[in-house]
Amino acid sequence: MIQFEKVYKRYNDQAVVSDFSLEIKEGEFFVLIGPSGSGKTTTLKMINQLIDLSEGYIRIEGKPISDYDLQELRWNIGYVLQQIALFPNMTIEENILVVPEMKKWSKEDMRNRVAELLESVGMDPESYRHRKTSELSGGEQQRIGVVRALAADPDIILMDEPFSALDPITRNNLQKDVLKLQRQLKKTVVFVTHDMQEAISLGDRICLMNKGKIEQVGTAEEILKQPANDFVREFIQTGLPNYQEEKTVQDLVEKGYVDQTVEPTSAIIATTETVKTLTILLSEHEAITVEGTNAVITKAHLVSFLAEEAASSKEDNI
Ligand code: ADP
Repeated sequence: MIQFEKVYKRYNDQAVVSDFSLEIKEGEFFVLIGPSGSGKTTTLKMINQLIDLSEGYIRIEGKPISDYDLQELRWNIGYVLQQIALFPNMTIEENILVVPEMKKWSKEDMRNRVAELLESVGMDPESYRHRKTSELSGGEQQRIGVVRALAADPDIILMDEPFSALDPITRNNLQKDVLKLQRQLKKTVVFVTHDMQEAISLGDRICLMNKGKIEQVGTAEEILKQPANDFVREFIQTGLPNYQEEKTVQDLVEKGYVDQTVEPTSAIIATTETVKTLTILLSEHEAITVEGTNAVITKAHLVSFLAEEAASSKEDNI
């Protein structure tokens, strides 16, 4: 658990994060969202002490972060950045094993760990293990960045706009991988983005920041249904383009973004419902049955559908 208690960060008496108090639960996928300059990165970097706080407390498992040995704190918190800093002259394996090496894992454990992690993101260990990272595409590099953050099995992973430089399809695939890994491994993830769609697809809860302060914290459903103020309302309107409202569940069914199942889920949705309603429901349920059918829509389906929409709307604009 990560607790923020009246946290402030000031530069020359200017507060860039103020009176920030909230709790991130264990195993939660927590998203920090807000416009550029709203203090998201500063908040994230205070967790692993890349930035010192000016006032207040951040506690991990009840203990203030300043009481932890700095090196140990950083080893136990994975960190993924937008422009991942892989070591270009090292192999993929060497890059992944930086922290396990420092922790003096056995050779065998390290070898197995690399294989397990590469497989978990669909990269064949034997063909990738010894390649240089400079040979990889942007998407593959980010994937290795995610894997490297997980390497030493940290309880917490911090991610700062990790996918924002990627094309929509690659981005969508990585979002799916990260969501799957997080559900499997039950890590606490704190994820920074300025993209409302991404926040809704990934976050168990979302914290919307503005000028260093919290405007609203809640599930996607709470924020979409009950925006706390005009700022939140406007942020949602700008962040969720209209096509979402026009598209319906029928569009996902027609495009095959469903699985057939024999086990109906507790949540059911009609084909005439909008994608917006579907998004809200999927923030609460892992899967939803399409009314009167055996078809089930999962978060992964929704993310794929939205990515395709985003890709095609981008093409329309070119
Ligand atoms: P975000 O991640 O939401 O874009 P940041 O946390 O990066 O926002 O920045 C919040 C504010 O703090 C910005 O106005 C930025 O200019 C300011 N800031 C960040 N780092 C420094 C610094 N080292 N000195 C002074 N101001 C800074």
